[in-house]
Amino acid sequence: MDLSQMDLMEVFPYAIDLVAVLLLALGIKGLSKVSSARSANGLAALALGLAVVGLLVQLQPGSTAWLWIAAGTALGGLAGLITAQRVPMTAMPETVALFNGCGGMASLLVALGVALFQSSEPNLVSRISIVISVFVGAITFSGSIVAMAKLQGWLDTPGWTQSSLRHAVNLALAGLCLVGAIGLPIEPSGWALWLLLAASTLLGIGVTLPIGGADMPVVISLLNSYSGVAAAAAGFVVGSQLLIVAGAMVGAAGLILTQVMCTAMNRSLVSVLFGGALGATSGGGSGASSDAGYTRITSCSAEECAMALEQAERVVFVPGYGLAVAQAQHSLRELSKLLEAHGVEVSYAIHPVAGRMPGHMNVLLAEADVPYEQLLEMDIINPEFPRADVVIVLGANDVVNPDAKTDPTSPLYGMPVLEVDQARQVFVVKRSLGAGYAGIANALFELPQTAMVFGDAKAVLNGLLTELRGMGVGKTPVGSAAKAKT
Ligand code: NDP
Repeated sequence: MDLSQMDLMEVFPYAIDLVAVLLLALGIKGLSKVSSARSANGLAALALGLAVVGLLVQLQPGSTAWLWIAAGTALGGLAGLITAQRVPMTAMPETVALFNGCGGMASLLVALGVALFQSSEPNLVSRISIVISVFVGAITFSGSIVAMAKLQGWLDTPGWTQSSLRHAVNLALAGLCLVGAIGLPIEPSGWALWLLLAASTLLGIGVTLPIGGADMPVVISLLNSYSGVAAAAAGFVVGSQLLIVAGAMVGAAGLILTQVMCTAMNRSLVSVLFGGALGATSGGGSGASSDAGYTRITSCSAEECAMALEQAERVVFVPGYGLAVAQAQHSLRELSKLLEAHGVEVSYAIHPVAGRMPGHMNVLLAEADVPYEQLLEMDIINPEFPRADVVIVLGANDVVNPDAKTDPTSPLYGMPVLEVDQARQVFVVKRSLGAGYAGIANALFELPQTAMVFGDAKAVLNGLLTELRGMGVGKTPVGSAAKAKT
């Protein structure tokens, strides 16, 4: 083998890693748009496939490690495939939590493996990386499993975790982690390793257990970020540039998402992490059951609402958590199709934290084949509300509360909201005058242009479909229907 051939062989794994990193970066970028998310996911999967190839080409001739790599890839791939096919959209937050936990555990095991079985003495960078990998990996693993169990309804929030006792317990555990972290670089495979592992695992449980179900999506995106940090640290432990870069990207992306969600909910990360489950119901939907002293409520029937829709040229639907509860996305899509056939311009106003997980409404509506281009983000749809003839709010509450803009005493004050109050005619579909996640009254319900249509979102939408079909809507060709209205 001549020199140039040798160089090529040495450079080859790095080239594969570089391509994998670029594909992964492109994949993460593509995930920011619903229309490119599916292909972006494919790119990221290809990147990880290449990463495995990069590992295989680095093996020494005669090494049997390829067997372990192939078996791990096949098993992991199969588990991922089955999960992707079986898990319903509504169980996505739990699934993401579980996968984060797996990521944390993988980094933890890599660090443990090096600390316990590497024959040569690890250098200082490697020792510090082992500390970070074990600490962050263990917190990510145990915290994610608790988050998954809470979302799945397998675990309640114990009463004591809502008292200041939890801060004392967590502080004590953090202290033990510190002792382990200081001791571990001195003796990498001794008592300090096991102390750090146990204390970090318990700390992950202690920090996540008190958090209310409704705040879990924020915690999950934070844990996702941690899994990236743990992977990057594991990359330093085993000297893998690919793992370092990929981990850093996941860590940064998770942190940005956490920040975006906190801003959109007008909550600080500190209050989510240390505020406990106060004010948040995990089941969600009706934080307060009273009618909050409303005095100027107008309610109407599905028939009246259908008449307004029949006359409208521009209709905006505002989906919220209640739409997901009612599983009414398919009825909504059917209604939209009927209106479009009648010449109505239909769009959907998407608030960043409508529902109970990031992108909840996008996922829900995508399931019902709503075209991506009809889903309009808050900044785009807000100036459009004054142009809308009819706005139908479907099981949304906090995200359309005008107090967020006008009432400094409101807990929602400062949270960006959909400016539905600017529309000419608003129908709010929900079962009662009960509050949403924030547990407060909604000034929108009492505005003169608002009428409440009480009922389950799916039942009301099906009622609207029946009424509109009864009026002959959708039977006339689009052109003539639009002309008849003008
Ligand atoms: P809200 O929780 O504010 O309101 C949902 C409304 O849906 C309730 O008022 C409820 O009223 C109604 N509802 C429940 N079931 C049904 C049903 N079957 N049919 C019709 N209506 C129903 O939801 P929003 O989407 O407006 O706001 C989301 C809230 O959740 C925000 O406060 C946000 O900060 C928070 N949040 C969001 C997260 C995210 O990542 N997206 C994460 C954590 C919290 P009624 O009982 O009268 O029917």
